[in-house]
Amino acid sequence: MNLTQLPASALVSLLRRGEVSSRQLTQACLEACQSLDSKIGAFLHLDAEAVLTTADAIDARRVRGEPLGLLAGLPVAIKDNLCQKGVPTTCASKMLANFRPPYTAHVVERVAAEDGVPFGKTNLDEFAMGSSTENSAFQKTRNPWDLERIPGGSSGGSAAAVAGCLTPLSLGSDTGGSIRQPASLCGIVGLKPSYGRVSRYGLVAFASSLDQVGPFAHDVAGTALLLQTIAGHDRRDSTSVNQPVPDYMASLETPLAGLRVGVAREFFGPGLDSEVEQAVRNSLEVYRSLGATIVDVTLPTSPHAIATYYLVATAEASSNLARYDGVHYGHRTAEKTNLINLYCKSRGEGFGAEVKRRIMLGTYALSSGYIDAYYTKALKARRLILNDFNRIFASCDVLAGPTAPTAAFKLGEKASDPLSMYLSDIYTISCNLAGISGLSIPCGFTASGLPIGLQLQGPAMAEETVLRAARMHEKATAWHTHRPILL
Ligand code: GLN
Repeated sequence: MNLTQLPASALVSLLRRGEVSSRQLTQACLEACQSLDSKIGAFLHLDAEAVLTTADAIDARRVRGEPLGLLAGLPVAIKDNLCQKGVPTTCASKMLANFRPPYTAHVVERVAAEDGVPFGKTNLDEFAMGSSTENSAFQKTRNPWDLERIPGGSSGGSAAAVAGCLTPLSLGSDTGGSIRQPASLCGIVGLKPSYGRVSRYGLVAFASSLDQVGPFAHDVAGTALLLQTIAGHDRRDSTSVNQPVPDYMASLETPLAGLRVGVAREFFGPGLDSEVEQAVRNSLEVYRSLGATIVDVTLPTSPHAIATYYLVATAEASSNLARYDGVHYGHRTAEKTNLINLYCKSRGEGFGAEVKRRIMLGTYALSSGYIDAYYTKALKARRLILNDFNRIFASCDVLAGPTAPTAAFKLGEKASDPLSMYLSDIYTISCNLAGISGLSIPCGFTASGLPIGLQLQGPAMAEETVLRAARMHEKATAWHTHRPILL
């Protein structure tokens, strides 16, 4: 294996022992980007000089014998809806094509504080709305396992950057599955923290009551390392939870005795690909062989999850995206005949089709006369979904199932059918509606060589349990050691 194919945990040891410098590793990642990113299309912005300067400064401190932070010089790619002072932050939208934020997101500050190297900005569906990264206004991102296929979304650039071995770690955001689904489709690990575990300060808002920032890595240890870096209270996000952050890395190797793995029968309904089902069932056998108990549970609200999500998320989006008016923020039209025209033209030119669809749906759901029938009803359904999870987690520690109903689909396959695109989130959105924790780990491949993901969900603030359960599976299998062959 060459350097860029190693998992973050192995690289940290090499960096700490001084066997590899941060400059060498960063340079290797830049070279990988140079040779492969024209095919993958993971990055929207990457300033080689800036990342090497950061790496050199960390190396200089190591040479002086100064203690280094958790990341010890590791490159971390950043989804382009996270602000970094002075660095383009576009949300893959024409609306923010020229935006350079005057401040840095909490999570990016944390990466820098722990001596990570913020390594470029990655592609996404415009404003994180989508499941394939095809909604980016700028470019398509391709799945490193099959360049004809999508990497998932919306954090497709961040997932493809890790899967394609362009960077060992990356950050994404997950509003309805945007970390877990691309992790699953790209054969890596991705974790959505519980709502409030990680500060949203500096994350461009899509649906504020659902959005969370989280890590991507090749394995569970790398995921725990980056979660350790970014988790914790931040007074600049009033929804960030003021609870101590457990030492995720310290407990990772200790198996959970008497683990109870819940399996909901609703996870195996129509629409689930048979190869995905088989891989997930094999994973349940892995847990059984490790001494875990498999507990049958039910999630009766699951048929309502998609409708609930697409009302709550669009309602919040219609409100959050009102700020892009061509006056305060974002693209301003050249045709400024009067104020209303300025608003209409600026928004009409700046937003893409999916974002407009969401704004219209959300505005309708909130409009007087319809709010009770749609938005308020969706909030009630949201509460019932949380009640389901609370009941389930009384009888099991984690809930296991598929992350996505199918492996990666072809570019363009669902692009003209929003409903079928929305259905690819069927297993992931309830987690956001309930505010609980969830992750996806690799659990197999289809006959044609596409990765399959296993989703493990846990109660709110139970990331430690979820990570340990994931590590038990990982230790007993070798799915996380595979890398795509890219020519
Ligand atoms: N695919 C979902 C959507 O389009 C989730 C997106 C996300 O998590 N950001 O809304």
